[in-house]
Amino acid sequence: MTDRRDELAVNLAKVEERITAACVAAGRKREEVTLIVVTKTYPASDVRMLAELGVRHVAENRDQDAAPKAAECADLALSWHFVGQLQTNKVRSVVGYADVVQSVDRARLVTALSKEAERTGRQLGCLIQVALDAEVSGRGERGGVAPGGVGELADLVAGAPGLRLDGLMTVAPLTGSTPGANRRRSGG
Ligand SMILES: *Cc1c(COP(=O)(O)O)cnc(C)c1O
Repeated sequence: MTDRRDELAVNLAKVEERITAACVAAGRKREEVTLIVVTKTYPASDVRMLAELGVRHVAENRDQDAAPKAAECADLALSWHFVGQLQTNKVRSVVGYADVVQSVDRARLVTALSKEAERTGRQLGCLIQVALDAEVSGRGERGGVAPGGVGELADLVAGAPGLRLDGLMTVAPLTGSTPGANRRRSGG
């Protein structure tokens, strides 16, 4: 599968170029920025090649796919991120391989994650997912807590055993006051 490896290497180099250019434009150091490669829908063999190419963080959004993939790649020095909506009945499985959950958006999930992290002696990084398009106190369509609820949830994570508050995960809406902020595809 060297063709696939070459393809991944070329695309990764393109992404790396864009990150470097963005860092230069923003006056930031490259090492301040972490590349997290979303590997969902791609096989474990791709994850393995990416790791060989220097990728250190991968992200998945479906536990059913991620759990076996993470098991197949358990020998690799990778951090696994869970992105997207997470049901509490998947928490036990997800905490088994994830280093970071990027979609913490409700108290019940905090409780479940904390309980499982403690039980297994793991430390789990948590990002509060913010829904910028949600009603004042509501939730976003694709998960996420409204901005007004962030403080309370962050306090909850910060005080929960086994959890580490790593920051926020935000996605700008396609319309409204910040339109187009996530219009970022250019063949990548
Ligand atoms: C797939 C996915 C991403 C990455 O989106 P792309 O459009 O593939 O860049 C980010 N977050 C979640 C929750 C996802 O499921």
